[in-house]
Amino acid sequence: MEMYDVIIVGAGTAGCMAAKVLASEGFEVCLIDRKDKQRIGDKVCGDAVGKHHFDNLGLPYPSGDEKEGDITGVKVYSPDKRTIFKISGYGLTGFMINRYLFGQRLLRYAIDSGAELKDGIHVSKPIIKDGYVIGVSARRLKTGEKIELFGRVTVDASGVSAVIRRKLPSTMGVDVNVEPEDLVVCYREIRKLRRGIEESEFCEIYLSQRIAPGGYYWIFPKTEGRVNVGLGVSQTRREANPKIQLYKNVISEPLFESSEIIDSGGGIVPTRRPLDSLVGNGVVFIGDSGCQVNPIHGGGIGPSMMGGKISGEVISEALEKGDVSIDALWPINVRFMESYGLKQAGLDIFRIFLQGLTDEELNYGMKYQLITEEDVLKASIGEEIRLNISEVARRFLAGLKRIGFLNSLRRMAGMSREVRELYRHYPSSPDEFSEWRRRVMEIFSLAKSSFWKR
Ligand SMILES: Cc1cc2nc3c(=O)[nH]c(=O)nc-3n(C[C@H](O)[C@H](O)[C@H](O)COP(=O)(O)OP(=O)(O)OC[C@H]3O[C@@H](n4cnc5c(N)ncnc54)[C@H](O)[C@@H]3O)c2cc1C
Repeated sequence: MEMYDVIIVGAGTAGCMAAKVLASEGFEVCLIDRKDKQRIGDKVCGDAVGKHHFDNLGLPYPSGDEKEGDITGVKVYSPDKRTIFKISGYGLTGFMINRYLFGQRLLRYAIDSGAELKDGIHVSKPIIKDGYVIGVSARRLKTGEKIELFGRVTVDASGVSAVIRRKLPSTMGVDVNVEPEDLVVCYREIRKLRRGIEESEFCEIYLSQRIAPGGYYWIFPKTEGRVNVGLGVSQTRREANPKIQLYKNVISEPLFESSEIIDSGGGIVPTRRPLDSLVGNGVVFIGDSGCQVNPIHGGGIGPSMMGGKISGEVISEALEKGDVSIDALWPINVRFMESYGLKQAGLDIFRIFLQGLTDEELNYGMKYQLITEEDVLKASIGEEIRLNISEVARRFLAGLKRIGFLNSLRRMAGMSREVRELYRHYPSSPDEFSEWRRRVMEIFSLAKSSFWKR
């Protein structure tokens, strides 16, 4: 029987970070991935990461071939493209990365710290005994051999596929499924352009319900005339195929004439608040499996590494005490929710609001600065959404009979503040969890019913 202190399923950004922390503390860590070692890190992504994540985690900035550009800010286009918010500032400076080389760097950190990598192994389900997850059932992809691996704690870092979480029995009290309305389906290409792009240090985000319903499309410049270009749509709007929409509306633009495809592929991003609880008896969910992604722009590299670090530190304490119960792992929830989870939840209300707007409303809202560049910057770095709606704008909107829109905007900001307050006081133990969760769910179902069915 193969027994470890910790089994980590998935050697992505979350799993490698958790493995690094735990192996550095001297624990026996088994890091499993279905990919072969040399393919780990090769993931369909927008390839943009904020500098602050490296600062917060104490990681060296990307350099050499791993860095494919510097970002100084973001340009957000209204659906009619008449208004452009050009936003820059600390939270929005960062890097374009070579996702594969970055993933390989994180894997090296994990292995060099002492984690044992088992690659080419597909995990199929958790093994459960007496209400605890005690390991995983898996299959070697080359030989088809079935194996079982055991650990005192199992970490689900398998990305959006969440292979452990989705197979847990309801008795474990974990959110097993994520609603399709909280998922965005994407298609992206890396292309080499014939001509360079203007202001290549700005990532471009285009809002349009017509072209990218419930999502957006993007053009992120890289060095050597390359761009990462993609489009995401809400999973509930499957009539809009992201690849078809990208080709019809974006790749058809003169910018892409005679451009060359370097890489292409699809992926899914969970764009919601984190799972209400990221832990169970002997089990932890991090990264996309725990929905640790910015709900507005879908950036999950930074938060997933943060989730990996926090969980590694708390699991280490739990193992020292010899207690891997939900109570012992609970500080993962408290630490994550009171830091990043709170920002995510506030932004999730904003995401739900944005998804309910028409293109016309987005055009008005941006043109008349109902939401300003500063609001967007603050929101993107997770600060509270405060609206400074001037009296002039209020009267103007009243004249246009758009007072309903204005009221919705105010309600959104209020709900966002309310939910942040709840997360600021995340329950310190599982005992108070059900009441806290009831209140959170109440706000989110109210937000969805108010903003999606106006
Ligand atoms: C199109 C697209 C664009 C994006 N753009 C950005 C961006 O620009 N910036 C940003 O910060 N984020 C972006 N994201 C989100 C970001 O990529 C993810 O949030 C982040 O990579 C999550 O990391 P993770 O470790 O949870 O999962 P992953 O990085 O997906 O890693 C999961 C690992 O688990 C392995 N695995 C899965 N299932 C099994 C199994 N059954 N058995 C064994 N191994 C398994 C996989 O092989 C993989 O290596 C984007 C996502 C998509 C889809």
